[in-house]
Amino acid sequence: MLFRRLLPLPALLLSALAGAIEISELQNGVWAALQPADNRFNDCNSLIVETHDYLIVIDAQERRADVQAIIDFAKNTIRKPVRYLINTHWHGDHTQGNTLYLHTYGDELTILGHVSQGVDIPERAASAHAERVAELQQQLPAAREQLATGIKLDGSRFSDQELAAQTARVDRAQAWLEANRDTIFTGPTLTIDGVYSVDAGDAMFTVYPQRGHTRGDLVVHFPKLHILAAGDLVDVMPYSGHGYPREWLTALQFIDTLDFSIIVPGHGPALNDRVLIANLSVYFESLTRQVSTLASKGMDLEEIQASIDLSASRELLAGNDTAAGNFFDAVQDEAIERAYAEVAGND
Ligand SMILES: [Zn+2]
Repeated sequence: MLFRRLLPLPALLLSALAGAIEISELQNGVWAALQPADNRFNDCNSLIVETHDYLIVIDAQERRADVQAIIDFAKNTIRKPVRYLINTHWHGDHTQGNTLYLHTYGDELTILGHVSQGVDIPERAASAHAERVAELQQQLPAAREQLATGIKLDGSRFSDQELAAQTARVDRAQAWLEANRDTIFTGPTLTIDGVYSVDAGDAMFTVYPQRGHTRGDLVVHFPKLHILAAGDLVDVMPYSGHGYPREWLTALQFIDTLDFSIIVPGHGPALNDRVLIANLSVYFESLTRQVSTLASKGMDLEEIQASIDLSASRELLAGNDTAAGNFFDAVQDEAIERAYAEVAGND
């Protein structure tokens, strides 16, 4: 996911609020490091798999404290080094932690990524991050000024309760800024352009490049452990702004052919069934079919965005979860735009 630029200031500030990751054992030698619910759309999950000699971590996460918590868990609890860090795609919430891993493990660490990530992490992830830093640097003085005067943007006064809550948000945003101002992004140290397997005994794994959420998604499959990590191709709330909706559907169909019993999605809880894969497939089928049909009637992008009906998919994916529903609504124009580009052959 990488949707922050869509959010107004209060939500941006709120994103700095959340609690820490929770590491839980899924099965012997396999752990999920999951974001707490209040941070599930902001930062990603990681999967940690133990081999005889080392650990494999899928996705680096963003917040330094979370990345450090996983490294500490490896060092102090499992007492094995991380030898493979696999980035499922370039988005900063999956790759910002690369630098700390590399700093900790040096040359003994392989950061495995799709060949396109070699460009997209240092360029797109780093510039999205720099924009976010610049935005906060610009907005925070105004937010402080508002707190000092006690008057909101709409001219009304903060209640005592609102003032306390807003002060906490601004303080946390300031803390985020200080922690992230000097972030350096590191791309993969080993890039792949095709199917890639590593023999790690029972933890042997195969990485399958796909295109859907981004142009360089990696699906990581542990066939002997029956575990799958597919990054944001399997996400509780899919974001298509940098993606390929029609190819995403194909990627989901591919994922569904693999043998696994547990999936750690890019965001949201670990899953032991395929309901989310089925629901995401329904959504992408509906999105791409409607966009194609409406385009064939001669509608332009704006007309399609106004006419399309994705309410059934919204119900399926968000149900009555307000935060999820808001997310769904916020990203559909981009999803339709990307689906339209595919139909028009401009993707
Ligand atoms: Zn993403």
